Amino acid sequence: MSRLIDLTGRRFGYWVVFARAERYTNPCGSLQYPWWCRCVCGVEKTVDGGHLRSGASRSCGCLHREMMTTHGMSKTRIYRVWAAMKQRCLNPNNKGYDNYGGRGLGVHPDWHPFVGYYADVGDRPRDDLSLDRVDNNAGYGPTNYRWATRIEQARNRRPRKRKAQRAKLEDIQAFAAALTRAVSVST
Ligand SMILES: [Zn+2]
Repeated sequence: MSRLIDLTGRRFGYWVVFARAERYTNPCGSLQYPWWCRCVCGVEKTVDGGHLRSGASRSCGCLHREMMTTHGMSKTRIYRVWAAMKQRCLNPNNKGYDNYGGRGLGVHPDWHPFVGYYADVGDRPRDDLSLDRVDNNAGYGPTNYRWATRIEQARNRRPRKRKAQRAKLEDIQAFAAALTRAVSVST
């Protein structure tokens, strides 16, 4: 028997592997090594390791259903946050794209469907918090998010290039002229 790679704790799409299941022989006579997996929606099932690794099985079926249908979340704030994130990272026609997708900031495949995103971030824990990335130079995904206040987020921003503040000559002249008028009126 070849060495069995331990998949415990690994994530494949919506599946998280949590235990080894009993091996069995399939109708074609070959040995199968299934794993107990939990889908982000809560469903637990055994899935063959080969199907996990090849990507043939990526969820209990809810992922496919989600792609095909809309769900009750589509009117919520968190859904809009998710949709806007995808737009600025994945849609070159979006006005925010230059600062996100255009800088190489992507969205982890698990977060492409809303259910995967929501399974990780959940509902906003407090009204003054919003989602932020931990590493501002990395994209959006399960290992790079936090709920943060506006102040915490501002500290995390990459420094913006300041616009040159030098005054134009005509502005100075206009200011001087106004000053001269003000002085002549008051004396
Ligand atoms: Zn599921």
